[in-house]
Amino acid sequence: MCSAVLTKDALAVFREGFTGTIVLPADPSYDEARRVWNGMHRREPALIARCASASDVSAALRFVRAAGLPVTVRGGGHNVAGTAVADGAVMIDLSLMRQVVVESRDRVAYAHGGCLLSDLDRATTPHGLACPAGVVSHTGLAGLALGGGYGWLARKWGLTCDHLLAAEVVLANGSIVQTRQHPELLWALRGGGGNFGVVTRFTLRLREVGPVHHRVGLYPLKDAVAALAWYRRFAAEQTTDMHVVGALKIAGDHTWVPAGLRGEPVLMLTAVWLGAPEEGPAAVASLFEAAPPAASANRVMSYAELQALGDHGEPHGNRYFTKSRYLAALPADSIDGLVAACADLRSPLSSIDFEYLRGAICDVPDAESAFPGRDAPYICTASAQWLDPADDRENISWARNTMARVAAQPRSGAYVNYLQDEPPGRVREVYGETRYRKLADIKRRYDPDNVFRANQNISPRSDQPEWPYMRQECQP
Ligand code: FAD
Repeated sequence: MCSAVLTKDALAVFREGFTGTIVLPADPSYDEARRVWNGMHRREPALIARCASASDVSAALRFVRAAGLPVTVRGGGHNVAGTAVADGAVMIDLSLMRQVVVESRDRVAYAHGGCLLSDLDRATTPHGLACPAGVVSHTGLAGLALGGGYGWLARKWGLTCDHLLAAEVVLANGSIVQTRQHPELLWALRGGGGNFGVVTRFTLRLREVGPVHHRVGLYPLKDAVAALAWYRRFAAEQTTDMHVVGALKIAGDHTWVPAGLRGEPVLMLTAVWLGAPEEGPAAVASLFEAAPPAASANRVMSYAELQALGDHGEPHGNRYFTKSRYLAALPADSIDGLVAACADLRSPLSSIDFEYLRGAICDVPDAESAFPGRDAPYICTASAQWLDPADDRENISWARNTMARVAAQPRSGAYVNYLQDEPPGRVREVYGETRYRKLADIKRRYDPDNVFRANQNISPRSDQPEWPYMRQECQP
């Protein structure tokens, strides 16, 4: 089908006035250009349109629609479900569009649609400013912001989508609009994902951020249950200047880790202090007073450095599978289950990550954005990571089984950006009926034909199921 519609003539017309780069399967750069972060998804698009402007995006959408081809949109290429790439589709790739302009006096950044978080942080940090975003700096801003955006600053200032003041959007019919004239579109972009158009420029509110105090502590698995019970109490008592996260994982080969713990399953707790600098050392140390770790390390660093700390642990090209959900509580049986799952890790690269949320995330009135689940106290994610395709089945099963250990909890919510392996109807369930219907109404107005469906999909017809995209390649 693809070779039938991608005729020389059609391509020649498309190339006229397109200022970016068009990559076809026969081109030497094709193999690199089609890659996304998760090595599980080696799909083969019919064409990659590497856009350099909103006009290029518009031209690409008109071309796609005339040709009757499916479309995907690539921001940073990090979605674990690989939604940026599909076999036989046209990929609208924004990776040439990474400019950021900071207006420090107004505390606003203008970031183009293909920015990575590192592009944004590099531009804002010299001004002592930051936009709250995720914790791995090679993640794309677009997918993260449109689905929500948790990170170190979320408890203090809110989610990335809460900082989205305006956007330039290319709609499914190719028209370029500003959300100033479309307030309901802006509402939908704050948590509704990539369902409504291609965002070519984000206007983001910035916050003042100075150097941060950072302390980690490691516990051997035999001490993890007690340490987690303490973490649960400590986290809930903190002001929003403090963010504490945990991970069950294999200890790395760092100089500060005792030889006996390297390569062993451990609990790692991390405290980050964003308040008055003089209070930092005591504040981050307080996490470890009642539960002394076997090893710990302490640093003061810039926000941009903090953002890059997690980069090396989740490199491009490895195989990844994620199961994630919000938890209403962290009761003793869930703690036992998660610690047992860590003892049962199938890959030294995998981890179980969890954090206490709340704070400013819940201060935003629920009706103000499309983002669901603001009141969730915890998010917990089994992140399987491995190298060999022969190990797919074992690692996917580990992640599924890990989250099944906490499945007895009543809350069924999940973070839309982590949805990968879900049954039909899950997206609707995650948004909730009322919010989903409102999103479907907006979708019908801006994308009635569901052109933007390679995502955590909202169907324009709320009586129809969403596009079943997220289970590809996940069936062991
Ligand atoms: P892509 O794969 O490029 O795109 C995903 C989807 O977003 C696309 O299918 C499309 O629907 C949409 N999209 C992308 N660009 C655009 C655009 N310009 N306009 C319209 N739609 C677009 N999330 C957090 O909240 N906090 C974290 O700390 C965090 N850490 C992460 C760490 C890693 C290593 C990874 C892999 C993911 C992390 N995430 C985190 C999840 C992240 O938010 C999602 O994976 C998100 O989809 C990544 O965005 P992207 O642009 O890189 O994705």
